[in-house]
Amino acid sequence: MDQQRYAIIGAGPSGLSAARALQKAGIAFDGYEAGAGVGGLWDIDNPRSTMYESAHLISSRTTTEFAEFPMDSTADYPSHKTLIRYFRDFADRFGITERFRFDTKVTSLEPVGEGWMLRATARDGDLAQRYDGVILANGTLAEPNVPTFRGEFTGELMHTSAYKSATQLTGKRVLIIGAGNSGCDIAVDAVHHAASVDMSVRRGYYFVPRYLFGKPSDTLNQGKPLPARIKQFVDKRVLQAFTGDPVRFGFPKPDYKLYESHPIVNTLILNHLGQGDLQIRPDIDRFDGKTVHFRDGSSAEYDTILLATGYTLDYPFVARDQLNWTGWSPKLFLNVFPPSFNGLYVMGMIEASGIGWQGRYEQADLIASYLSAPPVQQAAFRRRVADEPWPNLTGGYKYLGLERMSYYVNKDAYRAAVKDAAAELRRDPSASSASHKPSKKKARA
Ligand SMILES: Cc1cc2nc3c(=O)[nH]c(=O)nc-3n(C[C@H](O)[C@H](O)[C@H](O)COP(=O)(O)OP(=O)(O)OC[C@H]3O[C@@H](n4cnc5c(N)ncnc54)[C@H](O)[C@@H]3O)c2cc1C
Repeated sequence: MDQQRYAIIGAGPSGLSAARALQKAGIAFDGYEAGAGVGGLWDIDNPRSTMYESAHLISSRTTTEFAEFPMDSTADYPSHKTLIRYFRDFADRFGITERFRFDTKVTSLEPVGEGWMLRATARDGDLAQRYDGVILANGTLAEPNVPTFRGEFTGELMHTSAYKSATQLTGKRVLIIGAGNSGCDIAVDAVHHAASVDMSVRRGYYFVPRYLFGKPSDTLNQGKPLPARIKQFVDKRVLQAFTGDPVRFGFPKPDYKLYESHPIVNTLILNHLGQGDLQIRPDIDRFDGKTVHFRDGSSAEYDTILLATGYTLDYPFVARDQLNWTGWSPKLFLNVFPPSFNGLYVMGMIEASGIGWQGRYEQADLIASYLSAPPVQQAAFRRRVADEPWPNLTGGYKYLGLERMSYYVNKDAYRAAVKDAAAELRRDPSASSASHKPSKKKARA
């Protein structure tokens, strides 16, 4: 029988993880990457990259890097320039670069018999190739989420995906809509270049300093997760002690608890608010020419509006029902496997605080464990997915009911569930029925 062959779409951190895990498991694969090299969005020159010149890691180096390939840097929060070098070195070190076809964009995936027909456009023409399965690692932060607003803005309106450098804002009256991590980074850039900077927010946020007690904040308490309520109680007080109350700076009071939405790892924004370099505005009511009217009845004129309104999931080359796309996002077992087990596997469709590339590698290892498991093990795994409640990946946190939180996971709960599933697939089949205890946890809503 011919060896099974798989395709990997994307050579960002997730695609590289998949390639490395398949390589280690001796599984044949071909990689397809639309850009000119590896590194995904960390390559600022990749046309799909949403990186900007001032960007650095938000999670710290040691919690983010691949365990088997430490970064050649002593910086706690290296810049995107260090990171793209890191991914190129990783891919070269393990002989992965040559396994990808670059400048080759996958345009469609169609089921054919037991496999998939992959079609792509490359510089030298179109191609079609059949695979036994396909790993989708095309990224989650590329397709801008652009809300609609009442009225029309006649100045420059851009999404943060088009933001590269603060010089784009020189001398302009800038309004940033949204205060996510990118929005706050860009606001901090903008105060040094723009004529004025305002930020419009709908809700309050929690601001986590990069350092707590002299250490990168995400390195504290690693590997010893506290129950959600205790962590919320303790960390809220730690934040109050270190950053104070963001309401003082004009932010609304959060109407949710800490960690129920992605925290903002940036306190420079608070420093600039304290210096009067920018001001917080309420939600938008409507646009009228260059004037923006806010919900509190105030208004101001702007030259440029930057939509820091996040991204939307996008798998444009495959029919949505193949990914069990029922609501805001595909409903996949462990955010990886369509319940139909149709030969598609999704990598990187996880938002989480601090999951890092090692967390993504563990997803890849799970896929490799499934693909290399004996048929009887695979069938048992599929039965469990069909018959038993899926593990609760929230870690006990009640995430906000928002599109961007619909595939959010708690890193500790998620990594534990992924490791359990991979271990189950590797277990000796003769021992599996005796040793497998069904999960008592409730299914994820
Ligand atoms: C400013 C910024 C800061 C960040 N900071 C952190 C951080 O500190 N820690 C952290 O863990 N994460 C961070 N992230 C999240 C980031 O998304 C991940 O680190 C990581 O890049 C995700 O990897 P990925 O491979 O899933 O996706 P991507 O890096 O987006 O890579 C996807 C790849 O797929 C390719 N592709 C897409 N469509 C096709 C197609 N049809 N055919 C072929 N190829 C295709 C793209 O060209 C791209 O190379 C940050 C993101 C941004 C924007």
